[in-house]
Amino acid sequence: MMKLFDTMSRSIRTLSPRDGETFRFYCCGPTVYGPAHIGNFRTFVLQDVFRRTMELSGFRTYHVRNLTDLDDKTIRDAQASKKSLSDFTAYWRDRFHEDGHRLNLLSPHLEPSAVAHIPHQIAMIAELMEKGHAYASADGSVYYRVSSFAQYGRLSRLDQRELREGASGAISEDEYDKDSVSDFALWKARREEDGVNFWESPWGQGRPGWHLECSAMCREHLGERFDLHSGGVDLIFPHHENEIAQSEACTGQTMADHWFHLTHLLVDGGKMSKSLGNFYTIQQLIDVGFDPIEVRYVLISSHYRQPLNFVAKDADGKETFPALLGARQALRRIAKLHQSLVQMAGEFEIPEYSRLLEVQEGASFQGAFEALQNDLNTPDALGRIFSTAKTLKVGSLSADEAIRELLGLHRVLAALGLLLPSHEEEKSIEVPAEIVEKAESRRQAKLEKNWAEADRLRDEITAMGWKLTDTKEGYELCPLN
Ligand code: AMP
Ligand code: ZN
Repeated sequence: MMKLFDTMSRSIRTLSPRDGETFRFYCCGPTVYGPAHIGNFRTFVLQDVFRRTMELSGFRTYHVRNLTDLDDKTIRDAQASKKSLSDFTAYWRDRFHEDGHRLNLLSPHLEPSAVAHIPHQIAMIAELMEKGHAYASADGSVYYRVSSFAQYGRLSRLDQRELREGASGAISEDEYDKDSVSDFALWKARREEDGVNFWESPWGQGRPGWHLECSAMCREHLGERFDLHSGGVDLIFPHHENEIAQSEACTGQTMADHWFHLTHLLVDGGKMSKSLGNFYTIQQLIDVGFDPIEVRYVLISSHYRQPLNFVAKDADGKETFPALLGARQALRRIAKLHQSLVQMAGEFEIPEYSRLLEVQEGASFQGAFEALQNDLNTPDALGRIFSTAKTLKVGSLSADEAIRELLGLHRVLAALGLLLPSHEEEKSIEVPAEIVEKAESRRQAKLEKNWAEADRLRDEITAMGWKLTDTKEGYELCPLN
């Protein structure tokens, strides 16, 4: 059973595929005009955790995530770089894929391009005009008549008054000639500055509006009604409100049964922006020595309905990335736990994703997986991994029990999309000479059966932030979290 908050009904609802077989969902994809930032990736990573949790709960999924390769920004920047729109967006699409791969995102089953769906969009405009929901203006643009769709504002809970008075200001600056300020463009007449980026239509040369692109791609690839639609909270209004108005006015059907919105990532308490110098890409974080999986860990460390504050700078304004350092420690702790379970299991091969579907319930990590099924509670799932690690008596497990726990652990890690640092990386943590010296003295003290001295040295080591564990071969040192 998977439960998730639905923006439309403002309630937590149980999910199940309409057709009883495959859970079909659409995520608004990246605008490919520059590198995606870690905020965008918070949304994409949590959508990925959602998909993985559904799959590992036994549902087949069909995940469509588009590429926004046609809008004001892609055209503007392609023109500025003197490249064709397709060359320009292909470059940023490839960078996006590369980052997605590094963050261990599953590729969507389908990644439609907006440009490739212009005929579908034109057909939808014609249908909307025929049904009285759209009108052409003198300059050759076509607008959606918001007042023609009574349910407009249902998703964002804006009433007609608010729409008239202000919210519409966010729609677009380059729309004029409208009957009402809240009407939005379905087709934008050709402008000089768009260069060669225009298409023919029954209303003259131009290009489709952004909102229409998703409506057309959803309809083409998921049909008139599908299971879930998702994006960041900024898309609730106007983008998703407009998608609903377009799609439902055409089809007369509820577009999506569930609306899944993700709250934004903040950096050092504020909005991320280039001018504030707090705009981070995956590549930038790799360049300062972090592993993308550490970034992934931070991005899932708070609940998707809570804003996540990514702390990059310390009090003096120095970029120390405490959140990423914390993620590194946490991943190492999980790797240690894994390693000790493997020791008890004897032999263990990391299972394929598909094999994890068969994991029997009952392992101690079941609770962590269930936290994900309960409104995708990623921080709770992580917390339960650590609390289980504390209570599990790994040393007294039989090989079979250890294997069962390992499969349970792998199932929740696979749902979170976390990969563990390898044993080699573990070993490469540099232990300060001073700590090694104390550990060696302690070993000596133990040999001499000087237990009081051994305990005293262990306390000193702990006080200096290191954990000493006795092993068959001697001891192991790892940083305390
Ligand atoms: P864009 O590339 O701007 O079309 O955005 C791609 C996705 O990232 C959309 O679902 C946005 O809602 C989402 N998004 C944009 N900014 C942030 C942010 N700071 N935190 C989380 N998600 C974001
Ligand atoms: Zn969209």
